[in-house]
Amino acid sequence: MSYSRLDRPVQFLKGVGPRRDDAFRKLGLGTARDVLYHLPRRYDDASTLMPIEGLKVGEDATVAGTVRSKGVLPTRKGLRIFQAVLRDDSGMITCSWPGQPWLERKIREGDELLVTGPVKFFHGRQLHPREFTVLSREGRGQKGRSGSGPRDAPGTVFVSYPSSDEIPQWVLRRVFEENLDWLLEAADEDEYLPEEVRTGLGLPGLGEALRRLHRPREPSEPESGRRRLAFDELFFLQLVQALARLRQAREEPGMAFSRTNRLIRPLHEALPFQLTDAQARVLREIFQDMTSARRMNRLLQGDVGAGKTLVALFAMLLAVEDGAQAALMAPTELLAEQHALSIRALLEALPQEERPPVALLTGSVKGRAREETLEGLREGQIPLAVGTHALIQDGVAFRRLGLGVVDEQHRFGVRQRMALGEAGPDGARPDVLVMSATPIPRSLALTLYGDLDLSVLDELPPGRTPVTTLLRRPGARDEIWAGVARELDRGRQAYVVYPQVEASENTELLDAVQEHERLAGEVFPDRRVGLLHGRVPADEKEAVMRAFRDGEVDILVATTVIEVGIDVPNATVMVIEHAERFGLSQLHQLRGRVGRGGGEAWCILVSAGGDAAEERLRAFVSTTDGFRIARVDLQIRGQGDLFGAQQHGRDPLLRFADLLVDEALLEEARTLARQIVESDPELALPEHQAVRDRLESHYAERFRLWKTG
Ligand code: ADP
Ligand code: MG
Repeated sequence: MSYSRLDRPVQFLKGVGPRRDDAFRKLGLGTARDVLYHLPRRYDDASTLMPIEGLKVGEDATVAGTVRSKGVLPTRKGLRIFQAVLRDDSGMITCSWPGQPWLERKIREGDELLVTGPVKFFHGRQLHPREFTVLSREGRGQKGRSGSGPRDAPGTVFVSYPSSDEIPQWVLRRVFEENLDWLLEAADEDEYLPEEVRTGLGLPGLGEALRRLHRPREPSEPESGRRRLAFDELFFLQLVQALARLRQAREEPGMAFSRTNRLIRPLHEALPFQLTDAQARVLREIFQDMTSARRMNRLLQGDVGAGKTLVALFAMLLAVEDGAQAALMAPTELLAEQHALSIRALLEALPQEERPPVALLTGSVKGRAREETLEGLREGQIPLAVGTHALIQDGVAFRRLGLGVVDEQHRFGVRQRMALGEAGPDGARPDVLVMSATPIPRSLALTLYGDLDLSVLDELPPGRTPVTTLLRRPGARDEIWAGVARELDRGRQAYVVYPQVEASENTELLDAVQEHERLAGEVFPDRRVGLLHGRVPADEKEAVMRAFRDGEVDILVATTVIEVGIDVPNATVMVIEHAERFGLSQLHQLRGRVGRGGGEAWCILVSAGGDAAEERLRAFVSTTDGFRIARVDLQIRGQGDLFGAQQHGRDPLLRFADLLVDEALLEEARTLARQIVESDPELALPEHQAVRDRLESHYAERFRLWKTG
């Protein structure tokens, strides 16, 4: 790998030196490259810049000028005001900073300042800066170059960098002034995109992109520069993932199943409904993977109720038809049991002698039953297993596992997900299908799970009535309970959801245990009110669930344990207390528990509000489309937060890319990355040398992570 000038330690930059070395490092700038990628946080251009002469009292102004004089003015009330007189080509104005006498030490005569703030009237016009930047300082090695000061040609865009006390704005500006030319040249030596590819994508070269960011000639330039850097980030992430996929495919041969239709066709024909177009499409994608020798590693995303279980079942049957086994792993016992029940119910459509047995394996399956199940899996008499993580614990072995399905994959770690796909005795690896009912925007999915192929069920089976969602204040509770009572009178059932199990220090929050007592005793004394939360023992949980499913409980008071997988079509209303406490995607999951019966259904969010909460909840009320909700969630919380939830900390490799804005760019980066990997898997061709260099120097760690899964 070649040494780049950009790897030089920062102290070798002109204007830094050993004296400022430490301070630069504290800003995170250790090398020339760090400095080059230290981008302005703010741009001011001529259209925002006003001539001082024309400033009017009452308006908000941004001006640039030279400090002609300055001083601290005491007032009668003892307040000390720092003042500086600023001059540009058109005139002069006094800038005042009440209560900030220390600025006396920061601002000098001859400094060129950029200031923003309201123009007021105090003994004439005065500007009260909210913000100011020392653009440059006189007599300090200033070379008198043009292109930096406020008296530049019209059209100049002023840049402000993230700075520190030790490295103020003017120092940074000077360092860029003295070094940017060679830094940009060096940047071009890093260029890995051939000119024609760049042109095709409408992206500037690297040096040009960084020039547009550091020294823009017009206001639109920084954004086009940013797009180029965003492309680089997205491209290399996709490249790493494409390479990891390729290696996986080579080193971990998959199984190629042949489709006999022995089970799939009769089940398909016996279904009481038609597959949705989306289901049919997704099944084609899955079958194609499973019948090829390449190992399947696929993410199936679909909104609540989109019919993922059925898709999973068909996929499992493809493996079983060919004499292999298939397992479905769910995050909770309840969900596993429910899957087992619904799969058995769907299989009823097959003649009994054809019907493959389905085993349930959870932590509660013990003793003889467990022994028998384990033996059946080991010997291969049991083709279909449904369970929790109990499926991947020591002592569980399959004779020939052909497909592992992981439901609600975000609840499992990568390692657990992989465990289900571990190679069997013959060295072949089972196909893996992971399912998620938490829709996330495609761009995010491709970034987080780029090693997986993506299938999306973007269509609900027909005949579903959208759940009517309402936002209410706590004061409206009587009315809400009256509404619930009306539904119960019609023979329907209700959920009431609380954010916590029991009263905690946070006494302002209602909790499931106490409210269950109150609802059962005072509000609905004539109704059967059940309680379900994470601390209820497993067998009791199951009893409560069954009772609710069988209509023996009218109201189920619960925490988010019901978020996944409870399927009670007769439940038509859900009340969610302290709705602001839940994430939008979580609310979406909860809401998915009602409206499963085809009739009208309600979801009532109770919240005392708060501005931020209000905005989120209103967005949630306005749509039932999980993908839209996910986008709003991403917009409101920011991608940093999303990565935080999923990967512990914002992805440090995505500084410039914005997954909501750059979706198209991501697709292009992905296409290019895959093309390169397909045509030159080792990146051995001379034209890929630069790509390989950069991959090895910047993304080695990431690559290692992907390789080890
Ligand atoms: P998901 O797991 O995606 O939330 P499910 O697989 O639980 O959704 O399906 C929800 C309900 O819809 C189930 O009762 C299922 O039997 C039914 N269903 C699945 N596919 C169809 C279809 N194509 N037409 C009608 N109903 C369907
Ligand atoms: Mg499901």
